[in-house]
Amino acid sequence: MNPVEIIRKKRDGKKLTKDEISFFINGYLNGKIPDYQMSAFLMAVYFQNMDFEETTYLTEIMLNSGHIIDLSDIPGIKVDKHSTGGVGDKVSLILAPIVAAAGVPVPMISGRGLGHTGGTLDKLESIPGFRTNLSVEEYKKVISEIGLVMIGQTEEIAPADKKIYALRDVTATVESIPLISASIMSKKLAEGIDALVLDVKTGQGAFMKEYEKSLQLAQVLFTIGKNFGKKVIAFITDMNQPLGYAVGNWLEVVESVQCLRGLDVPDLMYITYVLAGAMIMLGGKANSIEKGMKIAQKVVLSGEAYEKFLQLVEKQGGDVSYIENLEKYPLSKHSIEVKSMFDGYVYEIDALEVGMVSLILGAGRTKVDDVIDPKAGIVLRKKVGDKVESGEQLAVFTQIEMML
Ligand code: URA
Repeated sequence: MNPVEIIRKKRDGKKLTKDEISFFINGYLNGKIPDYQMSAFLMAVYFQNMDFEETTYLTEIMLNSGHIIDLSDIPGIKVDKHSTGGVGDKVSLILAPIVAAAGVPVPMISGRGLGHTGGTLDKLESIPGFRTNLSVEEYKKVISEIGLVMIGQTEEIAPADKKIYALRDVTATVESIPLISASIMSKKLAEGIDALVLDVKTGQGAFMKEYEKSLQLAQVLFTIGKNFGKKVIAFITDMNQPLGYAVGNWLEVVESVQCLRGLDVPDLMYITYVLAGAMIMLGGKANSIEKGMKIAQKVVLSGEAYEKFLQLVEKQGGDVSYIENLEKYPLSKHSIEVKSMFDGYVYEIDALEVGMVSLILGAGRTKVDDVIDPKAGIVLRKKVGDKVESGEQLAVFTQIEMML
């Protein structure tokens, strides 16, 4: 088989066979197909799409590029959640300890920032010492000890996604239903779950800006999960304005910790409780999402969810003192205040623009080997609908002490 022929076939809108997709993905993984041919392939898929059968093959091949972890010896129904990507979307950091504190084991494999959206891995790694590259053995040990583990794709787990994800990030090939579906589901099917909650974003800051496209993406993700024998619930949620107030890696850890300690950031905590409620229900600890939501609220108020997060940080090598004492983190040297020029109400906060500015400030990447600045980002002071007076702060760029 010839990579150029396969690229041309997809470029011309033809359907690829399982063998052709396998040849391309495995060839890329073992270094026989270079980045430039993979980039062309991804762009061809972006423009010409893949049908459901091709998408399933792609998922399966990416899944089988690494280990499929067996967690059957860990008691309980294992449940995870995955978002299709948003701005200020720190839900995983809050929700995973909540659900684990409610007694449902949560094995989670996440990604880094992608395009203008943030990634759970970059957020977790902003905690000094936190390791997201655990071996399979370490992964199993952590979940069996505390009922929660949060890692990234590694050379052992979903390696094809690890490599392709990084390339998609910098080649403008993220916004594609087959590529997003295979990326998400190859990770999720590898991690040893029984059930999955999907948070499919829609709106300005999402990869799928129109509701119809988001629905299509939800249907593909849902069907792949079902076909692989998992229980799946998919939500379509708003991503027109950023979630919560913080956008940027450490900034989002700070906001997450504050929420785990009981701060109510309404849009962020509402979605967190709904998704957590669904996970708790799928995990067999409640017989409805509403009852699951009540349990989720209870473990936040009791401090158990916060305790679970501290355990996670400690188990994965992070320095817990930075979480217990958020002021300990070094401050960003540079900050700019954005003030309102008028009296009025906030009509719109374009999540895509906020995500792009945050990326440019250093919270994301424009090249594969870019090093991110964990302190970079934006703290919003107002949300849509808020009253604002002339001269009042609308946002602060990069200054973390403003969060506290
Ligand atoms: N999340 C992923 O893991 N992959 C994507 O492609 C988009 C969001």
